[in-house]
Formats: sequence, C-alpha cells, structure tokens
Amino acid sequence: MDYLSTRGQSKAASLQEALEAGLAPDGGLYMPQHLPRLSAGGFADCRTAADVAARLLNPFFSKSALQEKLQGIVRETYSFPLGLVPLSGESGARVLELFHGPTAAFKDFGARFLAASLQQLARNAVTTRTILVATSGDTGGAVAAAFHGRPAFRVVVLFPNERVSRRQVKQLACWGGNVRALAVNGSFDDCQRLVKTAFAMSAADPGWQLGSANSINIGRLLPQCAYYAYASLKVWRETGAKAGFVVPTGNMGNAFACLMTRAMGLPIGPVVLATNANQTIGKYLESGRFEPAPAIQTLATAMDVGNPSNMERYRYMEQQAGFGAAGISVFSIDDQAIARQIVADFDAYGRVHCPHTATASCAWHSLPRAARQERPWVLVSTAHAAKFETTVEPLIGRKIELPVALAELENQPVQYSIIENDFTALRDALASGE
Ligand SMILES: *Cc1c(COP(=O)(O)O)cnc(C)c1O
Repeated sequence: MDYLSTRGQSKAASLQEALEAGLAPDGGLYMPQHLPRLSAGGFADCRTAADVAARLLNPFFSKSALQEKLQGIVRETYSFPLGLVPLSGESGARVLELFHGPTAAFKDFGARFLAASLQQLARNAVTTRTILVATSGDTGGAVAAAFHGRPAFRVVVLFPNERVSRRQVKQLACWGGNVRALAVNGSFDDCQRLVKTAFAMSAADPGWQLGSANSINIGRLLPQCAYYAYASLKVWRETGAKAGFVVPTGNMGNAFACLMTRAMGLPIGPVVLATNANQTIGKYLESGRFEPAPAIQTLATAMDVGNPSNMERYRYMEQQAGFGAAGISVFSIDDQAIARQIVADFDAYGRVHCPHTATASCAWHSLPRAARQERPWVLVSTAHAAKFETTVEPLIGRKIELPVALAELENQPVQYSIIENDFTALRDALASGE
C-alpha cells in the first residue's frame, strides 16, 4: 500500500516513509492510496480487539517493511481492555470505553501503535531520534508513556508553564529516563510555534534527528480504526444491526477513523459528531465552507480546536466515492449542556463521564426518540473522568476514584525544566539533553 498526500504535490510514500515523516513534504497529510473493501464475514474468526486490528490493518501494511511485524505491533497496542458496556438496561446504548490505557485516554492507542512501529523501523539505527511534542493535555502524556523505556528515542514534551493542571503535569513530567518535560513560559500556541520552528530547522539539517508524533501522523489514525471495527462487529454479532456511533470531536482524528472504518465496509450506521462550542466542523458540513476560527475555551478542553487539522483528510475523502456527508450529523454542545449531562447521567445511570464523553451523551440524548430506538448506539468515551476531576467532581459532588494506571503516576516525583519562550532556549535545552 502506498500513501498519498492530500495536497497531491508530493510523490507517493511507503508506510515507513509516511510514519517517519508525519507530514508530507508538500504540507499535506498522508492517506492510504485506496481503502480496502472489507465485510463483517471476513472477521468471523476474530475474537479479541488485537485479532480484529491485525486483520483490519493488514492491507495497510501490505508490501511494507513492517508487514511481518504487524502482529507484534498490534499486540503491544491493544494490550489493555476495551470496554463496551451498556449505558443502562433500557437505553439500548453502549459506551465504548477507550480509557483503560496507561494515560486513561484514547490517545494511548495511537501513541502506542506509532511508538511500536517506529521502534521496529529504528532497530538498526545508530543515533537516537528525538520525538518532540507540544501538548496542552492528553497527547503529551500518551506519547511520553508510549515511548518511555524505548532507548532508540528520547521524548521532549513542551507544555505551557503554569497553565496545565497539577494532575496533568504529573502525567507529563513523572517519566524520567528517556522522557524530558519542558515547561515553556508561554501559552500552548507558543509551545506549538517552538515545535514547528524546530521541525523547520530539522528539515534543513537532518543532524537534528527529530521525529513527530502529533495527531496528523497516519500512525495515530490507523489503530483508531480498529476499535471501531471491533465494537461494530461485536454489536453486529449480538443484534444483527449496524450500530450508530456518537463520537466526541475536536481535531476530527478519532471521528475520521470511524468514518474511514465505515467506508471500508464494517457494519457502522449513522455517525454523529459531538463537538463543544467550537463549530468549524458543524458549519462546514452545513454550508460547505471551511472557515477556521480561533479556538474557544470550553470544559471539554481536549476538543478546543478552531482549525481541525484532520478536516484536510475529510475534505480529501469527500471527493472519493462513498464518503459524502450522508449518514453524518453534528451537534455542538455548549458548556452548560456538558455540565448538565454529566449530572444527569450520574443521576440516571450512575456513570461519571469526562466532559468530552458528556458531549457524546448529550448529542445522543438530543436525537429524536425514534432514531435512538431504531438501532443500537455506541457512545464513544474518550477519557476517564478522573483526568478532568476539577470540572467533574464539583458537578457530581464526590471524589472520583483514580484508575490504577493514573494512581501509579500520581505517586511518582515530577521533574521538569522551565524554559523561556524563545527558540534559542529550546535549542539549548535539546542540545543539553543526554
Ligand atoms: C484528543 C481528545 C479528543 C478529541 O479527539 P480528536 O481526534 O482531536 O477529535 C476528545 N476527547 C479527549 C479526552 C481527547 O483527549
């Protein structure tokens, strides 16, 4: 399988090249040259999520240097449980829990898959590659956890000093070993700007040996398709119906994986996108005009995106057959509604949602009753509520117990350096790293 840039100005890349580069040379995002056609029957002997992932991803690995390694990569990625649990007895809705990984958010899947893949590719490398990421929340922790203890890499995580919660700092700065955390005296946008400058420098001077793990990397997207396949097959086997999916959406990465999986032929019905108050995606689907806007801050912070980068993939695929806006709808959920839904679902079902998951629940509850009853629905839960305890605990009036993985991080000492918001400071910090 070859990978093409959405902008069509770069030559086709192998899987290996697409994984290592992240972004195509023309500034576009890589997409598989074509989507394989699959059907539920082709997965009849697959039981676990790892089985499904290996089968689903095989065509994307065909003829690549990694083809023989796919089984191992998939087992490393899907080494923790995927929950698919009823929201309540009567509702017929299920919650797809993607938060049982090391940092309790769905980004663990993409980060672990990318790390395992890049590690296979780096086996004969003599130099260490530096994975540089800017983060305002879940990405940095997931990437740090995924690359921690892999000696072919070092990870440098940039986060805005004093603008990240205490618990989030833990998840970024507790790792030690080959992971370093840098607190930048600036905003998240400043962190991103520093990372972009570093990548521009390294494009001119390969001596930098930088690697990217951000969410536009095709290696983050592919493994996400597998849990949609797994969940849809499970519902299909149980009920004979195509499940509808409700997906919390910010940068359109997780939701795009769901649409891609449906386009491959897996038994997925309507897809409902749940955004927070940031409405770039909703407005595009309504008007056909893509108009990025400054991000609005909301309770669902990981979805505070005004210029969703994966929309470039969506718009590219829209021109292909079978990928139009049919069977897609969008609900924009404001902070008040998020807060109300967290309280309502706790009262009604005893479930504690993170604010992102609450957007999905709210969108689902906003569907007409007939649509809700017409088929089974899967509400995608993107993070454990304990990651957003400062928002959720006051709403439900009690403490949220930490999942084991996060509780372990909680007891680790943190260590990070503070740097000024300028490129020289970053360059010096990178050069001084061991
Ligand atoms: C990143 C993130 C999202 C948004 O996912 P996208 O792929 O950017 O749309 C939603 N919820 C949580 C908890 C996240 O960390």
